[in-house]
Amino acid sequence: MKSMKKFLSVLMILVMVLAMAACGTDKNASGGGSADADAGNNSSGEVLVVGTEPTFPPFDTTDDDGNIVGFDMDLIKAIGEDQGFDVEFRSLEFDGLISALQAGTIDIAIAGMDASPERQEQVDFSDPYYTASLIVAVAADNDTIKSVDDLTPDMKVAAQIGTTGADMVETLKSEGKIAEAVILNGLDTAMMQLINGDVQAVINDTPVTENYISKQPDKIKTVGDTMEASAPYAIAVQKGNTALLERINAGLATVQNDGTYDELIEKWLTGSSEADAEA
Ligand code: GLN
Repeated sequence: MKSMKKFLSVLMILVMVLAMAACGTDKNASGGGSADADAGNNSSGEVLVVGTEPTFPPFDTTDDDGNIVGFDMDLIKAIGEDQGFDVEFRSLEFDGLISALQAGTIDIAIAGMDASPERQEQVDFSDPYYTASLIVAVAADNDTIKSVDDLTPDMKVAAQIGTTGADMVETLKSEGKIAEAVILNGLDTAMMQLINGDVQAVINDTPVTENYISKQPDKIKTVGDTMEASAPYAIAVQKGNTALLERINAGLATVQNDGTYDELIEKWLTGSSEADAEA
């Protein structure tokens, strides 16, 4: 499977080199056939820096070699292919993504990020591309917590910094319903603490929690009903960067209409109960 992927990426590079060579010769041709028809994309050498937080599988994660991969990475690559830009991924903490956009150190953020009203005041969001929800996760052998209502003032509950899950955990803490809000940089650490018994629950996005469970089914489980997210996931750019936002929306529409989006859902989210969430 991995060597297949390697083979495909080598093939992609070859196709791109050939397409570029074809473009080169076409410049000298006097109005002959267009080389564009053979080119796989409109790549112009433009490289945009895309920030994410890669402990959020299957949207944002890393492969065995440490490369940033996931549904979001494939989606933004496909959008770039349609719109003539390449991407370079940068790993940041989730609560650093918006300030990195504002500072201009990244061009785009794609990180399973809800386009919540508060964030809309700080950055601009594309059209939505996925609708998730929040869920409570507990240790698989926990028989006392059956929903968010069973959390008690002696419990520690974890979430990832800057997320809507963290907002919920902090609200539970301020209402006196739990002992401690344990806010962590990575979701992998939160799940580890849950397994180790350092915290009694984790609140996070449902498809991502289900992905962690699928890797260690005997250790973690979800309890209770899913809770509504603040907004669907969308791609963020610096406030006022309308030109880039329009390209992202155009590319997103293309991949949603030509079947690419569905292929990516199939590739990364099949088996998740939210795999059929509307975009
Ligand atoms: N969807 C959640 C949010 O927007 C969590 C995102 C994440 O952890 N990558 O806050």
